Amino acid sequence: MTHVVTEACVMHKYQDCVAVCPVEAFREADDYLVIDPDECIDCAACVTECPVEAIFADTDVPEDQESWIERNEVESPDLPIAEGDSPVLASD
Ligand code: SF4
Repeated sequence: MTHVVTEACVMHKYQDCVAVCPVEAFREADDYLVIDPDECIDCAACVTECPVEAIFADTDVPEDQESWIERNEVESPDLPIAEGDSPVLASD
């Protein structure tokens, strides 16, 4: 099991989740985050921190977001660890 970042993160990329993750599981693309399933320990600390409710347990991902399970897994190995200091992209 792992946790998964879904589409709501795109063009938002808030960093609240990064700040609470105990194992540096978040990886950083240009305009969204993903979670490395090999690092995530399923503590769920990030879920309630996300202002746009983008993070779910992989067993709890909404049906229309299920493609993000594979995206997190496939994309995370090639992305840098999120440092938590990137600017929030959204102005809302
Ligand atoms: S569930 Fe816990 S370990 Fe996994 S990404 Fe969220 S904060 Fe990090």
